[in-house]
Amino acid sequence: MSRVIFLGPPGAGKGTQAQKLADDLQIRKISTGDMLRAEVSAETPLGLQAKSYMDAGDLVPDQVLIEMVRGQLLSASDGWILDGFPRTLAQAEALDHLLPELDQSYDHVIDLHVPDDILVDRLLNRGRADDKESVIRHRLEVYRNQTKPVIDFYAAKQCFSQIDGNRPVDEVYDNLMSLVNSNSNHHES
Ligand code: AMP
Repeated sequence: MSRVIFLGPPGAGKGTQAQKLADDLQIRKISTGDMLRAEVSAETPLGLQAKSYMDAGDLVPDQVLIEMVRGQLLSASDGWILDGFPRTLAQAEALDHLLPELDQSYDHVIDLHVPDDILVDRLLNRGRADDKESVIRHRLEVYRNQTKPVIDFYAAKQCFSQIDGNRPVDEVYDNLMSLVNSNSNHHES
């Protein structure tokens, strides 16, 4: 069973990699962006609240995310990969409290690293609703200000690794898979 926290800037390819890993290991991909987009298209109260933040490239308030993730973790008994969460220090700290409460722990924190200029090109070519150039630049700014500290939070821990995301998808995936399969950092709850 694997439990993986997957970090990286918007456009790094986290979603694609996380999906492949989830499929191969039969674990749940918990993608907060996908969950929020589903709420927005279903026009739920949460979706209506989240939409304006997402359209502007801002982060949705922490409390909303923490509750969403709690529900997912609770029912993901075969393992999980977190894609897009935690994105703030408050979320990382909340997760650190939440996991022991659920009798869980994580095995790996992996940061997918891609240089900024490459991210902008990738995001412009993706064409999602929030992928306009001004919004993209704002999302990267938000990432630098609010999400980078999350990397520092985990970087000091033993189970942290960084992988180079500026390579062909399959190469990145091989790297990711071999890290997740290495049990050297394993600390079961
Ligand atoms: P993503 O698909 O991960 O790029 O997420 C798309 C948008 O959803 C982000 O730009 C945020 O507005 C929102 N979002 C996703 N995950 C989080 C999170 N952990 N905390 C706050 N907002 C989030």
